[in-house]
Amino acid sequence: MRLSLVLVLSFLAVPAHAKEWGDVRTPVPGPARVIGGPAAGCIAGAERLPPDGPGYQAVRVSRNRHWGHPATIAFVRDLGARAKAAGFADLYVGDVAQPRGGPMASLHGSHQNGLDADIWFNIDPKPALPAAAREDIAIVTLTTQDEPRIDPATWRDDHSRLLKLAAEDRRVDRILVHFAIKKHLCETLPAADRAWLRKLRPWRGHNEHFHVRLACPPDSADCVGQAAIPAGDGCDSTLDWWFLDAAERRKRDEEAQRAAPKVQTGPPRPKLPAQCAAILRAP
Ligand SMILES: [Zn+2]
Repeated sequence: MRLSLVLVLSFLAVPAHAKEWGDVRTPVPGPARVIGGPAAGCIAGAERLPPDGPGYQAVRVSRNRHWGHPATIAFVRDLGARAKAAGFADLYVGDVAQPRGGPMASLHGSHQNGLDADIWFNIDPKPALPAAAREDIAIVTLTTQDEPRIDPATWRDDHSRLLKLAAEDRRVDRILVHFAIKKHLCETLPAADRAWLRKLRPWRGHNEHFHVRLACPPDSADCVGQAAIPAGDGCDSTLDWWFLDAAERRKRDEEAQRAAPKVQTGPPRPKLPAQCAAILRAP
């Protein structure tokens, strides 16, 4: 992990002894400015989510990863308050971003530009513990161990209500959830209540938390957003793809590539925007 960071830093022509993103304890002061995308970006003027607030408790605060664009922090606080008003117990808020964003040494490929936030699926009532006692918290997994399907022992309709609360916030661009969660919602919600599923994007992992990604805020001209989500609720063959075995997926991808070749065949190598070097170096 350290090696890959060194490679990124040397690519930016920063001396290898320069500080690493994870070592920076403070944001760059000044107006908020998002630079780059979720998987290759950074942020100036980040704000810190208070460890506790109405309707939420931040977890693993010692990691110092609860920094984000003010819109992200406002979104999380609003979601906590709205969930509380809707009768939910406190939400656990996982990682947002490092004080200046940038690549993390563990766990995430994204969360780099201060617009991503993880909300845990543990919606059980929680004791009011001090932040330091919330380093090792009970994890609730919504899918079964062996098969990609919802675990009826842990799934509750309240999970659907909570996801809807988050998805209906206009600041939210998309929400990543395990594909079995999306499938379950596609199969169980009435057609009249599926429009909000459009923002729910099927992904691997994300069965213990959902990952909210905000749209690029208007104050950040250098923010790189993702391609727009296709029209419709996504309860279609693009979702079924996730349930195919690996060989069948490869076959279908190759067929699709032959039918409509794309220039780009793999994910681009994440490259931090040049402005991020100055953000990392700033005192
Ligand atoms: Zn995440």
